[in-house]
Amino acid sequence: MKTLAVIGGGPAGTSAAITARQFGASVVIIEATEFPRFRPGESLHPGIETLLEALGADSSLRNAPHLRYQGIWVSWGDTERHFVSFGSDHRGAWFGYQISRAHLDAALLSAAEAAGAEVWRSCKAQALLMRPDGFVAGVITDRGELEAETVIDASGPAGWLARELGVPVAAFSPRLVAHYGYAEGVCSSTELPAIRADQHGWTWLAQIEPYRYHWTRVTQPEYRPARSWLPEEYRYLNVCRTGGADVTWRKAGRLAGAGWFLCGEAGGVLDPSSSHGVLRSLLSGRMAAHLAVAVSRGALNSHEARTSYQRWFDESFDGDVKKMTASYREAGLFGC
Ligand SMILES: Cc1cc2nc3c(=O)[nH]c(=O)nc-3n(C[C@H](O)[C@H](O)[C@H](O)COP(=O)(O)OP(=O)(O)OC[C@H]3O[C@@H](n4cnc5c(N)ncnc54)[C@H](O)[C@@H]3O)c2cc1C
Repeated sequence: MKTLAVIGGGPAGTSAAITARQFGASVVIIEATEFPRFRPGESLHPGIETLLEALGADSSLRNAPHLRYQGIWVSWGDTERHFVSFGSDHRGAWFGYQISRAHLDAALLSAAEAAGAEVWRSCKAQALLMRPDGFVAGVITDRGELEAETVIDASGPAGWLARELGVPVAAFSPRLVAHYGYAEGVCSSTELPAIRADQHGWTWLAQIEPYRYHWTRVTQPEYRPARSWLPEEYRYLNVCRTGGADVTWRKAGRLAGAGWFLCGEAGGVLDPSSSHGVLRSLLSGRMAAHLAVAVSRGALNSHEARTSYQRWFDESFDGDVKKMTASYREAGLFGC
């Protein structure tokens, strides 16, 4: 029997697996999709740097092509377009990262393998193994059964385990959709990354590689732009790929239970203006693994672990909901 079965090899799942391995626990990651996968999320908050270091994923990322940025151009509500920096300390300015998701995903997954996690690639979690007393005891996959003391669900917005157990998911915003894409060429705007709000939503623009640009447009469904829509600044660029996502703010009613934890977007989704998506996923994976190992070693009982995780997740999620509501209210958006 393994200490942990982790569903999903994204930021939340790999962070959980690496953390558990750092405590010497046995871990299997089950990942359904072949990497590199199509998943947006290249703009990373400066706070991620120390976390990537702690997870041992920083060195391969340092060598991957990336851009650093000191802040964001903001046009929001009644304020004129202005630059908002991340801040600084005695060592100098803080910088965020622009790094392709393919590189981030590969760096995290190889850090997990280097730490000793087993990775079952192209393997899907299909059902839960349950004990007669209601404890989750592992996962049935298309490669067979995997018994584990704890199952960490890091399956992303699919929220696989919550659906399996019938855990209700509550919405905290009106329905919001993101239309996003990538374009290549040379963009003449020097004021990137940028976010601007208008009457019906907001648009995010960022250069993520020397000749590659990303945009995200978030609106309510009735104002979703046409498939061919492009921000004005990108009109001379060549569109490579576009996608869409439901980014309604939502959170599972319970984040942990008997033998399970929900991490990253499997626990809760916020729209990308929170700018903390990947950061929150890495942190929640680390927290859940830490608590699961403490239970396995007898340092905490299962109830204490669940209660602390629930409190921790709620505080971080609810804090972002509060800030984002205030910010949307300022811009007169989404009825906030
Ligand atoms: C348009 C858009 C722009 C964004 N931009 C940013 C940004 O700039 N910065 C930022 O920090 N965040 C951003 N985000 C958010 C960010 O993408 C997510 O927060 C982050 O990817 C969540 O990580 P995760 O590990 O929880 O889930 P994911 O990265 O979604 O990983 C989940 C994994 O689980 C696997 N899986 C699912 N079901 C199963 C199953 N049954 N069995 C096995 N495997 C399974 C999936 O294949 C997937 O690989 C953006 C999101 C959107 C929609």
